[in-house]
Amino acid sequence: MPSKELLDLVTQTKKQLEHLRVLGVEGIQISADVAPAPAVKQAPAAAPPPPKPAPVEKISPKPAGALFGDLAPAPVKLERSIETFEQIHAEIGDCTRCPLHQERTHVVHTEGNRKARLMFVGEAPGADEDAQARPFVGRAGQLLTKIIEAIGLKREEILIGNVNRCRPPGNRAPMPDEAATCKPFLLREIAVVQPEVIVVLGNTAMKNLLDTREGITRLRGTFQDYNGIKVMPTFHPAYLLRDPSKKRETWEDLKKVRDYLDSHRSNPC
Ligand code: URA
Repeated sequence: MPSKELLDLVTQTKKQLEHLRVLGVEGIQISADVAPAPAVKQAPAAAPPPPKPAPVEKISPKPAGALFGDLAPAPVKLERSIETFEQIHAEIGDCTRCPLHQERTHVVHTEGNRKARLMFVGEAPGADEDAQARPFVGRAGQLLTKIIEAIGLKREEILIGNVNRCRPPGNRAPMPDEAATCKPFLLREIAVVQPEVIVVLGNTAMKNLLDTREGITRLRGTFQDYNGIKVMPTFHPAYLLRDPSKKRETWEDLKKVRDYLDSHRSNPC
């Protein structure tokens, strides 16, 4: 198989397995005629305990043969979770699962309309967010609010969150293991709300949400997929504050989001 095709297949398969893991599937059986190795069990989690799997209306993992039989994983459609944000946030609690807890003041949860069609996902809280326990309330957040209004929406109508909920010291980017520890909670919220579009802000958030090594400059402005949800990568508002010339491209990206939502208007929110 050509290496590009193989790489795509591995990437798709990784995404599918990650999705099943978030939904609580602990192992899959691989049929003997495809892979003679024993069924893979998820490695035991280190303490403290990992996030609980999200309860879903129905979990319908593909049978092993269908998952790997033709070496072409079927696209995953995210199952709607029946848990609540309150349950997820209670489980996060006074989190000490990663080193970022050491210097944070507040855990900053996702906020906004839990029936939103549109969600924005950033990297991690900054100083203002850490102080106020709300995402995107500092200078970058004020610019984000203007961006949201520019596409005809109000901040209260949409959902805003971050891959990481604790402020990294000195606003450094979260480390991959810090992002991997926190991300399952975001994915559970996404499974509850099932927004139609997620705008992912900046390189770090995009790489973490989409599990990609591609950079923001290459992927921005093109719809990506997260388990059937459209994902639009664009520049982070903090970057726009440093380089206002990038606002034009960001506006192009957001117009695509607005046009998509306008042309798929089934949900009044
Ligand atoms: N930057 C982010 O990525 N998230 C916030 O909440 C604030 C700034």
